[in-house]
Amino acid sequence: MKDMELEKGYALIGATLIDGNGGVPVKDTTVVIRNGVLEEVGDVNSVRVKDNIQKVDISEYYLMPGLIDAHVHFTGVKSANSMDWITESNYLEAIRTAAEARKVLDYGFTTVRSGGSRYDIYLKRAIEEGTIVGPRIMSCGLGLCRTGGNQDAMPRDVYGIPDEWAQQSYVWAQPCDGVEEIRKAIRKLVGQNVDHIKFFATGGGLWEKDRVEDMHFGLEEMRTIVDEAHMVGLRVMCHAENLRGIRAAVELGVDTIEHGDNEEGCELDEETCQIMAEKNIFLTPTLSINFVGEWAEEGLPEYVINGWKRAINNGVKVLLGSDAHADPVTPYGKYNIGEIKLLVDILGLSPLEAITSATKFGAEACGIDSRVGTIEKGKLADLLVLKKDPTSNIDILLAKGNIRYIIKEGNLVVEH
Ligand SMILES: [Zn+2]
Repeated sequence: MKDMELEKGYALIGATLIDGNGGVPVKDTTVVIRNGVLEEVGDVNSVRVKDNIQKVDISEYYLMPGLIDAHVHFTGVKSANSMDWITESNYLEAIRTAAEARKVLDYGFTTVRSGGSRYDIYLKRAIEEGTIVGPRIMSCGLGLCRTGGNQDAMPRDVYGIPDEWAQQSYVWAQPCDGVEEIRKAIRKLVGQNVDHIKFFATGGGLWEKDRVEDMHFGLEEMRTIVDEAHMVGLRVMCHAENLRGIRAAVELGVDTIEHGDNEEGCELDEETCQIMAEKNIFLTPTLSINFVGEWAEEGLPEYVINGWKRAINNGVKVLLGSDAHADPVTPYGKYNIGEIKLLVDILGLSPLEAITSATKFGAEACGIDSRVGTIEKGKLADLLVLKKDPTSNIDILLAKGNIRYIIKEGNLVVEH
C-alpha cells in the first residue's frame, strides 16, 4: 500500500470490519476513501469501486477505527528526577512532545484528548500544518487548579523549590481563584483556540495537602467554569476524586469526570451514576495510573472498582483515558494502549465493548463523533488495519507490530 492518490481515491477491499458501533465484526467488506473521507462502506459485493482508482486487497486483515485516548498530558519530561521537571528548558520539552505524540500514534491512537499541557496547543498546530506526524489533538492548554492546588503548590512542597520558580513547573495546570480570575483564564484559553477546558474540582493526591477527599473549588467557581466554557461551546473535563466533588460537578453539568475514584464508604452511588447517565456525562477511570510508581503498591481497592462498575451498570459510558504524562514513568504509546487491557481485565468489558469505549465513545466525549470514532460513510478515514482479530483477544492491540497500517484522514501515516 503506497502512493495513495487521495483526490482520486482508493479502495481497501476484503477486510473483516469492526466499525466501532459495537456490532460483531463483519466479513468481506469494502471501503472507498477519497480526500480523506470514507466515501463508501459496505459489503464487498455491493460497493461499486471505480475502475480507475487504486485497489488494495486487505482480505487477510481486520479493519477498525483509529483509537482515541481521552486523557493524555504531553509534557516533554525526559527524566524521572523531579528536579528536572523544573529546571529543564521549556523549549527542549516542547520539542520532545513531538516524539511523544509520534509514539502514541504508533500504537494506533489517531486522536488524543489532552488532560492539560503547556504545549498541546502548539503541538496540535504543528501536526495540523503537517510539520510533524502525530495524532489529532484535542487541546486544552493548562488546566485550572486553585492556588495551593494540584500544580501550584507541588513544586515547593514536593520538590522543595522556591515559590518564585513555581510557575516554571506548571506542567499541566495553572492556579486561578474566584469568579473573575476564572473567567479571565478561560477567556485567554478560548483566545488560544483550545478545544475544551480542564479543571481540578478536588485534590489529586500529589502532595500532603492535595488530599483527594477535599474539594478544591467552591460551587460558584465551578459553576463559572461550566458556564464560561459552555457559553462558547467548549466541553468541560473535570478531575474529581471524591463523591462530593463528583456529585457537585455532575449537577453543575460538566461533560466528563476524570478518575472518579472515591474513598471507602463514599463509593460512586446509584443516584450520582443515574444523573451521569441521564446527562450523558462520561467517566474516564484512568485505570493505568494506579499501577505506576508508588501508587502501584496500593493497587486498586475493590470499593473503587465497584463504584466504576456501578456507573457502567447504570449506563454511564466509560472512556479509554490513560493519564500518560511523563515518558520515564508512563512510556508513551505502550502505556496508553495498556489502558484498553485494563478496561477488559478490571472493569469486565468485553474486547468489543472496550474497543467501542476507545473509539466511538471517545469521539462523542470530544464532540467530534460526526467526523471520527466509527467507520461510516461520510466520516474521516482514521483507520487501523490489523493482522489479527482484537475482538477475540484484546492483547492483539498491545503489540504495535500487529497493526499493519495506520491511516489518518486517508493518509498512510504508519506501517509496521
Ligand atoms: Zn491527568
